[in-house]
Amino acid sequence: MQNHIDRVLLGRGAISDRVRALGDELARDLTGELVKEGSPADATDRIVFVPVMTGALVFTADLIRHLPLPIAMRLVSVSSYPGAATQSKGATLKSYLSDDLAGRHVVIIDDILDTGETMRMLRGLVEDRRPASVRACVLLKKQLGKPAVAEAEHVGFEIPDEFVVGYGLDYDGHYRNLPDICVLKREAYEG
Ligand code: 5GP
Ligand code: MG
Repeated sequence: MQNHIDRVLLGRGAISDRVRALGDELARDLTGELVKEGSPADATDRIVFVPVMTGALVFTADLIRHLPLPIAMRLVSVSSYPGAATQSKGATLKSYLSDDLAGRHVVIIDDILDTGETMRMLRGLVEDRRPASVRACVLLKKQLGKPAVAEAEHVGFEIPDEFVVGYGLDYDGHYRNLPDICVLKREAYEG
């Protein structure tokens, strides 16, 4: 399996530095929201993180440890790349999305923004629950020739349009535990 890796695109050191900076950005913006509404910085029940499983697992675990604010977590599961697919098959919600988001500041966390279908679906579902604010934070964004159908306010890295694995991202269930983000060889999925 490991010989399907073409090269390291983002090493663990670069990822770690960028995740810390994203945590600082988010903390600053969310503190701003709390100040605006007159909530104390230590108010509980104001901020809810919605990480998209399973790809955002590792990113979320690292990111939340840079946030000095009380946050609640509501995991969701979305499938767009069933099995060995490397082209999005359209996003479907595979789990329940909590209905206690009303009036709270919601941060959707995902591993990668590609077509934006996943983000568009999730933003819609979150908006339906009448949150006080919604923002999205993705570690990676693919540089496609055209705009994505939904955006993220916080982006870790813009990357070329190649299939990547590691740091939570999988190919057919493998490679999530690689500490670096790597490009998969095309022959691994192009037969
Ligand atoms: P979108 O809905 O934006 O097209 O795709 C987003 C989802 O597709 C991401 O949450 C991620 O799970 C998956 N995805 C998109 N590009 C890649 C990639 O290069 N590698 C992996 N492993 N998953 C990807
Ligand atoms: Mg995903």
